[in-house]
Amino acid sequence: MRLDGKVAIVTGSSRGLGKAIALGLAKEGANIVVSARTEVENPQLPGTIHKTAEEIQALKRRVLPIKCDVSSEQSVNDMVKKTLDEFGRVDILVNNAGVAFYYPVIETPLKRWEIVLRVNLIGAFLCSKAVLPKMIEQKRGSIINISSLAANEREGGKVSTGLAYAVAKAGVDRFTWGLAAEAGCFNIAVNCLKPQQVVDTEGMRFWVKEEERKGWVTPEKMVKCAIFLAQQDAKGVTGIVATDEEICAWHGL
Ligand code: NAP
Repeated sequence: MRLDGKVAIVTGSSRGLGKAIALGLAKEGANIVVSARTEVENPQLPGTIHKTAEEIQALKRRVLPIKCDVSSEQSVNDMVKKTLDEFGRVDILVNNAGVAFYYPVIETPLKRWEIVLRVNLIGAFLCSKAVLPKMIEQKRGSIINISSLAANEREGGKVSTGLAYAVAKAGVDRFTWGLAAEAGCFNIAVNCLKPQQVVDTEGMRFWVKEEERKGWVTPEKMVKCAIFLAQQDAKGVTGIVATDEEICAWHGL
């Protein structure tokens, strides 16, 4: 197994892509910190940190579900502290937690704009900052930021996921190669992965009507790429911002 004994934190792994990536890393031998806010099932948005943890436990991996809001520095620092208390190390961080707000600027309250930036962009900064000291001490680590084509796509100038989300993800892209440059000398890889096609997740189903769900794919390619990127350090692949299809094509996955 390619990630035997590694410890991975996956933010936003109560459902969707984060859950699929957490299970994928666990199947490769990693022990997993399942991190998100939901502990009690909401029928509109299925999935909890405990359900994901049960599925990982069934794979005979060590797993620690931790309630964490990535937009809060205190919550993130507590989550990383609990991770280190339990496992003593952290090898992989997947900054996956994300939210969108599918409205034009004129209909976006400041509070929504701030939440979208806090979760997608500030969350990635806070979680990365919190794991860096341990990764530096270990002289190795891999940080994977999950972004979106919304960051650079311009269909008639508009993005359906709302401009706050596009701006936040553009920030995630920039954060990736900037942090890769800062962390490379400590042998830490930092990469950014985004789906080429819409991935069928609970979050997407919440926003998009059934009749509009065309061409959606399973998370399979994203999971393959996350496993590949999780194995990297700064001597390997680092500083890239790419889609799952690009990474699969470039690296024969
Ligand atoms: P999803 O089904 O809505 O899942 C989002 C996850 O983020 C949930 O586990 C949610 O958990 C967590 N989350 C939201 N706010 C949080 C917060 N404040 N603190 C901690 N966790 C939080 O979405 P998804 O489709 O799987 O998307 C996952 C990632 O992929 C996101 O970054 C998204 O932008 C990106 N992405 C997805 C697609 C796609 O086609 N699906 C395309 C491009 C990019 P709780 O609610 O339990 O906290």
